[in-house]
Amino acid sequence: MSDQKTVLIVEDEKNIVDILRFNLQRSGYAILEAYDGEEGLRQALSANPDLILLDVMLPKMNGFDVCKALREKGSNVPVIILTAREEESDKVLGLEIGADDYITKPFSMRELVARVGANIRRTAMAVPSGTSAAANAMPVSGDLSINTDSHQVFRAGKAIDLTQREYELLTFLASHPNKVYSRTDLMEQVWNYGYVGDDVRTVDVTVRRLREKIEADPANPAYILTRRGAGYYFAV
Ligand code: CA
Repeated sequence: MSDQKTVLIVEDEKNIVDILRFNLQRSGYAILEAYDGEEGLRQALSANPDLILLDVMLPKMNGFDVCKALREKGSNVPVIILTAREEESDKVLGLEIGADDYITKPFSMRELVARVGANIRRTAMAVPSGTSAAANAMPVSGDLSINTDSHQVFRAGKAIDLTQREYELLTFLASHPNKVYSRTDLMEQVWNYGYVGDDVRTVDVTVRRLREKIEADPANPAYILTRRGAGYYFAV
């Protein structure tokens, strides 16, 4: 590919680095590797990778401190934190210190590669001024594209009028391609509701309205799909 993207893997477990390298190279990425936090930070700052996969438990400097140092130095490279721990506090901490995404080990390679692509696309559309919002929208799937700067969604280059909530639901699902979220998850993630009662129906209603706006055939959706009994996901 002419515009090859580079992923920096910061991980001290060699077998994990090996499998990440293999799968990402096969998907067309160039790979840089660091086996401790200090070396990871050094390469992140000197080599300007397009994305960093960052383990938490690392020799010399942990992943959170690496991410924090990067942000303090003004880098906005997308960072996906890898951790073996399921702890909610880890996730919150990771996102608070400026990570973009989070994957818990053991992860599926397919999901990891999809997340790498989504996070690179999301930042690749830092919009140069003087060009149209449609031209700078990030393609998410099919003929659908999103400009996260102008908060506009386009189908085949034509702007679609969405409410803020519809927009937030779409961008949330699209930034985690093929991951199924229950209605309760979506209430928490998109609506930020701590308490979820009967209101999960709100999710169904919003999905239906969103489909009517973005799908060519709302009865046979191509983008926002239902996994029966489980929830909704954005298909890529
Ligand atoms: Ca480790």
